[in-house]
Amino acid sequence: MMKRDYDIIIAGGGVAGLTAAISAAKHSNQNLRILVVDRNSRGEVGKKSPNGWVCGDAVSRRSLEYASSNSGVVYTAPEIEHKVKGVLLLSPDHETSVLFEGEGYLLNRKLFSKKQMMEAEKLGVEFRFNTAITGLMSDGKQVVGVIGRDTNSGSKFTATSKLVVDATGAASRLRANLPIKSMIEREIHRDDLEATGRYIYTFKQKKEDKTYFDSDYCLIHLDQELAPGGYCWTFPKGKNKVNIGLGVQKKALDARNRRFNRSDTLQSLIDTYVSRNIALDEPTLSQDQNDQGNTSGSWQVPVRRQNDCLVANGYAILGDAAWMPRPIDAGGIGPALYGGTILGKLAAEAVEASDTSEEGLWRFNIEYMRLYGYQMASFEALRRYLQTLSNEDINYGMKNFLSQEDIQHITRREHPEFNKIQLFNPVMWLKILRKPTLAKGLKQVSELSKRLINHNLNYPEKPSRFDAWQKDLHRLLYKYIRN
Ligand SMILES: Cc1cc2nc3c(=O)[nH]c(=O)nc-3n(C[C@H](O)[C@H](O)[C@H](O)COP(=O)(O)OP(=O)(O)OC[C@H]3O[C@@H](n4cnc5c(N)ncnc54)[C@H](O)[C@@H]3O)c2cc1C
Repeated sequence: MMKRDYDIIIAGGGVAGLTAAISAAKHSNQNLRILVVDRNSRGEVGKKSPNGWVCGDAVSRRSLEYASSNSGVVYTAPEIEHKVKGVLLLSPDHETSVLFEGEGYLLNRKLFSKKQMMEAEKLGVEFRFNTAITGLMSDGKQVVGVIGRDTNSGSKFTATSKLVVDATGAASRLRANLPIKSMIEREIHRDDLEATGRYIYTFKQKKEDKTYFDSDYCLIHLDQELAPGGYCWTFPKGKNKVNIGLGVQKKALDARNRRFNRSDTLQSLIDTYVSRNIALDEPTLSQDQNDQGNTSGSWQVPVRRQNDCLVANGYAILGDAAWMPRPIDAGGIGPALYGGTILGKLAAEAVEASDTSEEGLWRFNIEYMRLYGYQMASFEALRRYLQTLSNEDINYGMKNFLSQEDIQHITRREHPEFNKIQLFNPVMWLKILRKPTLAKGLKQVSELSKRLINHNLNYPEKPSRFDAWQKDLHRLLYKYIRN
């Protein structure tokens, strides 16, 4: 390989980029030169947008432990701000609640980024701040470096490397403008993006009602009128502190506004959701020093399966730039931790084996798919289906068709099978007759899900088999479910 300034350049110092940097440095046997480039200042590493480190801040203990056990980095207070016992999902009428047990954490994303940056530095990772990457350099066949701009002086920045990891988040333009031939999908459909926003508030407790605030559980409120095509959340960050917000799909919001002759926006819906919360008295933007610049804001999240291909010659995509958040709940911290850990290790191996070609990096596609990504197409199908349902259907479905077994499946991050929907059971038969389309739809999407999972577990071992695999995936996915 030609001499390059760095072995690996990571564009974007968010959770995905920093996890990959730590993992690559940890697994490097040859003291690789790794550079993280972030457009923020050092004091604001990982900040997603001028609005801050906008996030619901929730991550499962399992995901964080996976990253810790592979990197040796121990996460604790203050970057872990609060612990929860699970997630409570509530139907629009609040009559049915489904409890998903499983410990989780509420992070302080600002402090989490700082912690990751310091751990990366301890391992010898270099940083360049105040630098926005604007493009990729190529030799026609391979990505060979980055082009950027110093955000203070405006001066040009260039650096070459054997591998560029694009971890610039949901608004990445590097992927769309990739200057070489590749199997990576360039653009995301706008219906697969969720507009989301939230506040971090402290409050006085007005009324004890655990369907509105519970310091032990993350609450998710399904409501197609308040969060069309998405959901609302009230996540505890302490006894009197909350991360509260919601996400919408633009198409669904437009349809809902037309239906009710309204002109609501994401912001007005968030404010309505907060004002309807009967447990929160005098919600006030958190004054905590560690929340400064991060108490209110919105940003977008991709909610489809991850990009069908994650690597190209000299280039890999990760985190939100690779559309990794779970389609069903927009949880992207976990996938960034899994993906970053895997990619960092494989990137170090590929550089040390002097092969950062598409083929040399291909194992990232396979290992990510086998460990985590295999379920995402099935969750995409479920998400698309749920977005077509009314509040009445969701109330009915949660009450009548969701079983304890389904809940266990979802807790294990598997797809619910809706096995309650069986015509030979007379009680169920009557219930199905009241909502036959819903019953059929849920069963159909559950069957499709099994096929999608099987298909994904057979991700091609080599790039040459990718085209055929992808065609079959699209055939399966779009047979029942369309944009
Ligand atoms: C409102 C909201 C609520 C959410 N709630 C949750 C939740 O509760 N749990 C969960 O798991 N996930 C949640 N998510 C998703 C989660 O926040 C993301 O999936 C996660 O932050 C993705 O990490 P990332 O590193 O890929 O991208 P980001 O966190 O966006 O980091 C990208 C980094 O790259 C930098 N950057 C961008 N462009 C450039 C450039 N051109 N040059 C240099 N640097 C650049 C950015 O400034 C930033 O530092 C939520 C998202 C939103 C918006």
